[in-house]
Amino acid sequence: MRPFDYVAPASAQEAVALLAEHGDHAKVLAGGTDLIVDLKHHAGNVSLLVDVTEIPEFLGIEETDEGLRIGSAAKYGEIMEHALCREYTPEIVAASHTVGAVQTRNLGTIGGNLVTCVPSADSAPSLLVLDADVTVAGTDGNRRMPLTDFFVGPRKTSLAPHELLVDIRIPKANLGKPSHFLKFGLRKGQALALVNAAAALWLDDKGAITEPRIALGAVAPKPVRCPKAEAVIAGKQPSDELLKEAAEMAVTECKPIDDFRASANYRRQLVRTMTYRCLKRSVEIASQR
Ligand SMILES: Cc1cc2nc3c(=O)[nH]c(=O)nc-3n(C[C@H](O)[C@H](O)[C@H](O)COP(=O)(O)OP(=O)(O)OC[C@H]3O[C@@H](n4cnc5c(N)ncnc54)[C@H](O)[C@@H]3O)c2cc1C
Repeated sequence: MRPFDYVAPASAQEAVALLAEHGDHAKVLAGGTDLIVDLKHHAGNVSLLVDVTEIPEFLGIEETDEGLRIGSAAKYGEIMEHALCREYTPEIVAASHTVGAVQTRNLGTIGGNLVTCVPSADSAPSLLVLDADVTVAGTDGNRRMPLTDFFVGPRKTSLAPHELLVDIRIPKANLGKPSHFLKFGLRKGQALALVNAAAALWLDDKGAITEPRIALGAVAPKPVRCPKAEAVIAGKQPSDELLKEAAEMAVTECKPIDDFRASANYRRQLVRTMTYRCLKRSVEIASQR
């Protein structure tokens, strides 16, 4: 591996300035579980790593007036142990448990996962179904955007060249929303998802489904929501037939590919089954409230 310089700035603005100054020669480093592997094979002209894991705004998990704030440099291990995540967003905890192995979870960050923007990123579905927002820092300061807009395509986010992902925010109204996450890989551990899926919904006082959300990974160029499947169940009384109808609609909203891990057809079957199971479990959790 080629040698490189390393710097750990103390603020987002300092990090942004370094990225602007060094252009293509600089890369952002968080846990390094993706980046260092990439640099071993395609170092290109990278000569400086800008470590964001010591910047206070990128760290920590806290409850704010608006909801839950998760610093982009929060590691999976931290999320899995954190009392607020376990209480308010158990499916983000569940998704974190499925990432890689212990070593990956002790180094890898939720922000790094979102920025890599691979279609199978395991953090994405459970954040999408909770309507997460992200904060982005750039030369003109910070801006916020829905996570759905952050994902653009395979390995492409809406981050401009010198921008950084600061944190992820779950709105207060969605803390504790009944939700379920599932991942299916070729093995139980250390496997990328053939499909990952999450659902979240409320039941109103008459038992009808409100604010349903369904999200899928590894079946489209980026992690996606399934608005047509959500519309199938919104405002209706849950039944097995209805949830299966929504799962069938979700199949029409994804565009899986054939690759060496699975055929597109197999992935479509996984979408059908996993969407149904995520919805069913979310309804069960909501019914027990
Ligand atoms: C053995 C192994 C198993 C894995 N298993 C899984 C798995 O099961 N599921 C899964 O989803 N992923 C998996 N991964 C991928 C990886 O671990 C995750 O995507 C991880 O969350 C990346 O986070 P990181 O902190 O290590 O990112 P890094 O490697 O440090 O960075 C990743 C990319 O994001 C950029 N970046 C990081 N933070 C920021 C920021 N705040 N702002 C702007 N850019 C930033 C970096 O420049 C780089 O381009 C695995 C990786 C390995 C090596």
